[in-house]
Amino acid sequence: MSDYTSFSVGGMADVMACPMDEDDLRKLLHFAECKGFPIYVLGAGTNLLVKDGGIRGIVLNLSEGFRDIVFRGEDSLEVGAGVSLSKVVTIYKEKGFSGLEFAVGIPGSVGGAVAMNAGAYGGEMKDVVEGVEIMGRGGKVRFIQGSNVGFSYRGSKLPDGAVILRVRLAFKRCNVEEVEKKMIKYKAMRKKTQAMNMPNAGSIFKNPGGESAGILIEEAGLKGMRCGGAKISEVHANYIVNLGDANAGDILALIARARDKVYQLKGIVLEPEIKVIGED
Ligand SMILES: Cc1cc2nc3c(=O)[nH]c(=O)nc-3n(C[C@H](O)[C@H](O)[C@H](O)COP(=O)(O)OP(=O)(O)OC[C@H]3O[C@@H](n4cnc5c(N)ncnc54)[C@H](O)[C@@H]3O)c2cc1C
Repeated sequence: MSDYTSFSVGGMADVMACPMDEDDLRKLLHFAECKGFPIYVLGAGTNLLVKDGGIRGIVLNLSEGFRDIVFRGEDSLEVGAGVSLSKVVTIYKEKGFSGLEFAVGIPGSVGGAVAMNAGAYGGEMKDVVEGVEIMGRGGKVRFIQGSNVGFSYRGSKLPDGAVILRVRLAFKRCNVEEVEKKMIKYKAMRKKTQAMNMPNAGSIFKNPGGESAGILIEEAGLKGMRCGGAKISEVHANYIVNLGDANAGDILALIARARDKVYQLKGIVLEPEIKVIGED
């Protein structure tokens, strides 16, 4: 899975399946259910830590199919879950659509962005998602209104086993210069505060109750701490970077160290933002 995650770590998955359309996906879900094979939905793997023992079951990769982008009426866009968020941000920028400025520089797929309620600079996906089309257990497709997606801080609550197929995103017509200006500002802010040049998965922990997880880790004296091939970033202490030869175990050890030290010093429990999956 190291080829499919931005951390560039993770053992083998038993199977990776790339359904090209709804029919394919329905058959695959049916097959997995009959055989009792677990399914794990992969977006672009930019918020994932796959353990070194890999994944027992089927990894569902929607990035080959589910790439359609269709205008819906005057003020919304329907986007396949496998489309990259940056592609949609570029469309917004080029057309002068407002609503997704915050998302400039957030990697990953549209499906992953919705599942995680990705956000930055005061904006989050919840603000632009009108609704999502999902395939549930049994292969039934239905549309869920944005207000029923159960968005929370870096999360959502879709029915168990739901696969997001498409997302309907709203926009306000604005002008190109204004949208671009905001994006340039956010891009510059991101450049200053993020460790961009080494494999990572963005913020490791959620910010607890208005505090910054990065500052808490920094105050615990852990900035720059290394374990094997992984390091707590010197640029932003809520990032862990792969120096080139890290394994998931190295990263997990740093996560545990940061969580324990912050708890010892501040009594604050840091909750992971990244998803940790697979076997040791
Ligand atoms: C350099 C860097 C900067 C980042 N900056 C930010 C930031 O500013 N703000 C922010 O919020 N995040 C940030 N992230 C984290 C990450 O990019 C986002 O969470 C992103 O939205 C995850 O999308 P993905 O496609 O990579 O999802 P993945 O990591 O592949 O998956 C994340 C979760 O979504 C689920 N999922 C994915 N697709 C689907 C689907 N179609 N149906 C059902 N479930 C699905 C997966 O099962 C998994 O549980 C950053 C990451 C990096 C590496």
